[in-house]
Amino acid sequence: MMNDNAQNLRQSDLAHYMHPFTDTEALGKEGGARIITRAEGAHIWDISGNKILDGMAGLWCVNIGYGRKELADAAARQMNTLPYYNSFFKTATVPSIELAEQLAARTPAGLNHVFYANSGSEANDTIVRMVRYYWELEGEAQRQIIIGRNHGYHGSTSVTASLSGPHMHGQGGVPLPGFSHIAAPYLFGADTELDAEAFGIQAAQALEERILELGADKVAAFIGEPVQGSGGMIVPPASYWGKIQRICKKYGVLLIADEVITGFGRTGKWFASELYDIKPDLMTLAKGLSSGYLPISAVIVGDRVANTIIHKGSEFVHGFTYSGHPVSCAVALENIRIIADEGLVENAATVGDYLQTRLRDLKDHPLVGEVRGIGLLGAIELVQSKSPRRFFETKGEVGTRCRDHCFANSLVMRAVRDTMIISPPLMFSKAHVDELLEKARKALDSTWADLCANKIEGIRHVQSA
Ligand SMILES: *Cc1c(COP(=O)(O)O)cnc(C)c1O
Repeated sequence: MMNDNAQNLRQSDLAHYMHPFTDTEALGKEGGARIITRAEGAHIWDISGNKILDGMAGLWCVNIGYGRKELADAAARQMNTLPYYNSFFKTATVPSIELAEQLAARTPAGLNHVFYANSGSEANDTIVRMVRYYWELEGEAQRQIIIGRNHGYHGSTSVTASLSGPHMHGQGGVPLPGFSHIAAPYLFGADTELDAEAFGIQAAQALEERILELGADKVAAFIGEPVQGSGGMIVPPASYWGKIQRICKKYGVLLIADEVITGFGRTGKWFASELYDIKPDLMTLAKGLSSGYLPISAVIVGDRVANTIIHKGSEFVHGFTYSGHPVSCAVALENIRIIADEGLVENAATVGDYLQTRLRDLKDHPLVGEVRGIGLLGAIELVQSKSPRRFFETKGEVGTRCRDHCFANSLVMRAVRDTMIISPPLMFSKAHVDELLEKARKALDSTWADLCANKIEGIRHVQSA
């Protein structure tokens, strides 16, 4: 009965549902989607009743964990009081004001204004318009170009896919003009003899070179995730952000910190900008802002940009029907209260340290070239050969196989190319970390066995020295 139902749902899914970032035909050949039906704490259940440890917090977003009734109650209360009203025509709602005040208070000094949207993509799209408008008001309308990075991810709209790295380009007329990209501070992926510090400086120096190449009078802003998430968990060397900031300052270029993943405790601080001493002009927040319980995002606007737009500008002709949706704001407020009251940021720091230590135990595994991470962000990069370091010729096949073994072992880890990614809920305990590591090692062993038996398409196993 249950299985018939699952089978029917899978068929309907294939027939009608176009999933994001999915090859539907390939999904069909594999028998269709895994259907998730419920969740509690750090675990999800699929329609066949399998209990799975969620090492990805959904999609980097369920920071407080699943099943928090307080958020459902906050939503129900707000829906019963005022389910919707807009903020367009000289109006506002109570939760949207209270949340703006909270966000101004919790984000680093100088970030005091909030513009709401519904997704990280919309928030970054808003930022692109806002910074270009800022430069128009400052009498430098030719400052249009925004510089991003390879492996950067800032969203999927035409503008934010353009802002993202080249892996997001090539389909549907993207990238649009007005965007430029420099290399990421990806030490393990680089062909370099430099140590981390020197490499960080060199990677940042690429920004100055690009600004000079384009002309400083043409560059509006630089955008970066403090730690690059979906591009492969790239943790910058300690020297990187300081140098980036000195370059932005030197040329008057605005600095945008995309904290959609790193915000709300993920790195063991409320915001990764605190961790790296980044003083951004604008900050993007989404995902952990509501722990994914409802869609909401926010642009936190620093005083420099806000003052120009408020005092020199007229009406900013921009906004969304659901900007500052009162139900989403009420849920975000309750989410932030839980993060603060339950010490989840501190927990992410403590359990994060434990995760980082335990992850390093995996370095002895024949597939593991590097483990890296910070707080409750972790990555395990798989390689063809450890010494000399060689990546797989066909990228992504081994990572995908490992991800499938994880699922079969009741663990969600994501594969980005051949890097396995971990980003669990912040209520993770040391016992959860132990469960995750045990399952991860099993999945690595199974992947290794497949590789040795030449059972992974496009990959020829070569015995490393
Ligand atoms: C997920 C993500 C986005 C896009 O957010 P959506 O809500 O999916 O539009 C933007 N930036 C970063 C860093 C992200 O991880």
